Amino acid sequence: VVQVAHLEPTQLDDIYISVKTTKNFHQSRLRLIIDTWVTLARQQTYFFTDADDLEIQKLLPSGHLINTNCSSDHSRKSLCCKMAFEYDNYMASNKRWFCHVDDDTYVNIPQLVALLQKYNHSEEWYLGKPSLRHPLEIIDRNNPVQKLAFWFATGGAGICISKALALKMLPHAGGGKLMTVGEKIRLPDDCTVGYIINYILHKELTVINEFHSHLEALWQIRVPEIKNQITFSYAKYGDKNNIVRLEGFDENKDPTRFWSIHCHLFPYTKHCANMPR
Ligand code: UDP
Ligand code: MN
Repeated sequence: VVQVAHLEPTQLDDIYISVKTTKNFHQSRLRLIIDTWVTLARQQTYFFTDADDLEIQKLLPSGHLINTNCSSDHSRKSLCCKMAFEYDNYMASNKRWFCHVDDDTYVNIPQLVALLQKYNHSEEWYLGKPSLRHPLEIIDRNNPVQKLAFWFATGGAGICISKALALKMLPHAGGGKLMTVGEKIRLPDDCTVGYIINYILHKELTVINEFHSHLEALWQIRVPEIKNQITFSYAKYGDKNNIVRLEGFDENKDPTRFWSIHCHLFPYTKHCANMPR
């Protein structure tokens, strides 16, 4: 019997998008992404948080706001706790790709689909953008004179993992083990994922230059290039804003630039008609 199902090109519905969030950001960050890019992937996007929220739940398909009951702080443990839930829920979903983003990320959905069409989900792929120019070095706790080094993709820029690789991770990440590993090496969730994939499983990170976290200079993205990028973010450092620079809505109305990016990419969608251009 010839199996051809896996040869079908990857579609949006083959992707599981998980967003990590926390109750304090439901109003300020979640609403913004639910109203913008999530409208293009409502059925494929799941939100992992730490509290119930009926108001947000009403905006999403049922079961898409997942209260992990992980503690709501920025500690290593609670971040790994959420990532462990994201991983386990992805594994239960049977989808080809697991993509993780933060709640301050804009995802250009058609470009994400186009990217994943270039890779075979039944091969092992770890796609993302490192924020260091070198591998992360940590002390090997089993052998303290030895350092060990590995690459990791920054969670805030987006991480995509193929089904084949996710399956290989199972003994180290499944059933909440991701949290145990994170505790052992005392590193946050994205580093822990890198440790499992690059150090334990010896799989390379494939750098996707079109992923952008706020650890890089977002204002340097050129306007004609915006449509080719896959993720964006925003941040405030002191009194300087690290945001994508483009024309669109007034900065007071759209400080993150997500509405302006959304309307730049999809000018005919709701709320974009009144963007000055
Ligand atoms: N986050 C969380 N719990 C917290 C703080 C943050 O789950 O107590 C999530 C947040 O919703 C976001 C990610 O962790 O998806 C990164 O947080 P943030 O952007 O505030 O900080 P960064 O690490 O990017 O500086
Ligand atoms: Mn962030």
